[in-house]
Amino acid sequence: MDKNSFFLNILSLLRTFFEQILEIATLLFQWYDKNKRDLPWRITKDPYFIWLSEILLQQTRVAQGLPYYLKFVEHFPTVNDLATAREEDILNLWQGLGYYSRARNLHYTAQVIAFQHKGKFPSNYDDIRALKGIGDYTAAAIASFAFGLPHAVIDGNVNRVISRLFGIEKPINKPAGQAEIRIALEQIFDSSRPALWNQSLMEFGALQCTPKNPNCVNCPLNTKCFAWSFKKVNELPRKEGKTKVTNVFHSYIILKLGSKTFIQKREAGIWKNLYQFPLIDRQMTINEVLSHAIETYGLQGIVNFNSVNEIEHVLSHQKIFAKFYTISLISGSEILKNDIFEIELDDLGKVFPTSVLTLKYLTEQKKHDK
Ligand code: SF4
Repeated sequence: MDKNSFFLNILSLLRTFFEQILEIATLLFQWYDKNKRDLPWRITKDPYFIWLSEILLQQTRVAQGLPYYLKFVEHFPTVNDLATAREEDILNLWQGLGYYSRARNLHYTAQVIAFQHKGKFPSNYDDIRALKGIGDYTAAAIASFAFGLPHAVIDGNVNRVISRLFGIEKPINKPAGQAEIRIALEQIFDSSRPALWNQSLMEFGALQCTPKNPNCVNCPLNTKCFAWSFKKVNELPRKEGKTKVTNVFHSYIILKLGSKTFIQKREAGIWKNLYQFPLIDRQMTINEVLSHAIETYGLQGIVNFNSVNEIEHVLSHQKIFAKFYTISLISGSEILKNDIFEIELDDLGKVFPTSVLTLKYLTEQKKHDK
């Protein structure tokens, strides 16, 4: 091949490459313009609101996360308001979203931004990524949406679209699969419009290229899609070795004295700093519960067991089988443990934040009492 032909070939390759980027980007942007949902965090460039929305919506559907976002913005309109809030108030607003370590990290990071960064959100990728609770995805989202920096986000939606478009067969939850996703994404990422690109691709994954029954027939990218062309839409993306779910048993003791109930603050685990009925982390018989109550709390005036309820609760890594034993007391003065204290039962879940498991129990119990 002579020198001229060589350069012509290179030019032709480059042209095809840029045409592909332009074409996919143009089709995506057109699709986004027609189909996007109006969401409040899409009309702001304030990194605080963008960060809030990203943390609140992790592992959560938009319909479920939106009311939480609105509540947080109303209660804590600035990062300083969030930093100076009581952790209990934050957990109360968070209640029902699960993954409570995210709420605690949110509070911690708000304090870092308010006090160490003097209320100014870091404006480059590395400093954003260094904040607690912010991973690659969230850092790229904040960097691109708030500051227009050329970082491509990779979330579950993006993984799915790219794996299908390019026919990536390696498991997307393994390093080799992620490396291929990155290489493929870099080929089509429109770095001149990173915010629009990221929003469009994520929304496309959420609404068009869905996990089940994607709308391939009416998809603007179907002529370029490997999975559609080779009938592999239902096989991609692949995942390997799903998280093992273990069974866990809880016994909760509800000590009742008139309208009062005794609760404790949890010190560790996923529900750290939430409130709960006194808990024993194993399955127990009624007699064991009774002996435990006498030994641990010095109870003397047990009247009766008035109800026993069972609740099942599934987390990503655990299936919890919980039993709730209610013991009505004659007098509470004998309770010796100072890690439990009495409250009005109605305040649990309102004044004192609690887990979804306990909320489920309270709802069931109310139905039962009607
Ligand atoms: S053709 Fe189907 S699988 Fe391919 S990008 Fe479109 S919706 Fe996704």
